[in-house]
Amino acid sequence: MVLKCDRGGEYVNVLNLTDETRQRETQTRLTGCDFEIVCSSVKGVWAVRKISGNHNHELGGNLAGHAAKRRLNELEKAKVRAFGGQGLAPKDIICIVRKEFANSHSTAKEIYNELGTARTEELRGRGPIKALVELISYTNYFSKVRLVGDAVNYVFFMHQSSVSMCQMFCTVFLLDCTYKTNKFGMPLLNVVGITSTYATFNAGFAYLHAENEEAYAWALQQFSEVVTPKVLCTDWELTLMNGIARVFPG
Ligand SMILES: [Zn+2]
Repeated sequence: MVLKCDRGGEYVNVLNLTDETRQRETQTRLTGCDFEIVCSSVKGVWAVRKISGNHNHELGGNLAGHAAKRRLNELEKAKVRAFGGQGLAPKDIICIVRKEFANSHSTAKEIYNELGTARTEELRGRGPIKALVELISYTNYFSKVRLVGDAVNYVFFMHQSSVSMCQMFCTVFLLDCTYKTNKFGMPLLNVVGITSTYATFNAGFAYLHAENEEAYAWALQQFSEVVTPKVLCTDWELTLMNGIARVFPG
């Protein structure tokens, strides 16, 4: 067996990229280093047979310089996915990983890539909204979905704990629609409940393909199956107010 330096070899421009056509800023780490160690095993005992060549580059003082060392092991991957699932940012996850695995040389980039892989696996070729619909339909959610053909038009969902909270605190709810682009590319209607101690809680969510009266009315209709609110507050949005009037006249 021959162990070679990980900077051995030279950059091969397989795609014939020039500085103009190359999209990523790349810098090859390969320096054509010819350092190598020849080892062999005799009856299960390994021995070094030959050391040849010299490093033609400075030796890194830090193992994080080696891609192989930065790679996450299976245990670390599982940790990263668990924390990613809880919504932690890669820079926070890396702190936890480093604390827990003293030998880890991973950087935020490996964490970021692992979370990306996890997301792709989770979606399994479905769009994010379809994945969401599937998730809420077999977990602890009260959910309603309206499809148009094969496309998801509206989704309404409430966690079971929110359902119980709403039934306990059913007086005032705040309605807020965020138009900021999320990964589903759909506006999100957020229903927020208020407890007797004036604490707020997330009551329900709706992804609506349109921001019209009909869409709001549909979402509120689903909400009204769980609870009949006494007061609904909005930020003076006319279409939403008309939607409310349709579902809760008077
Ligand atoms: Zn070398």
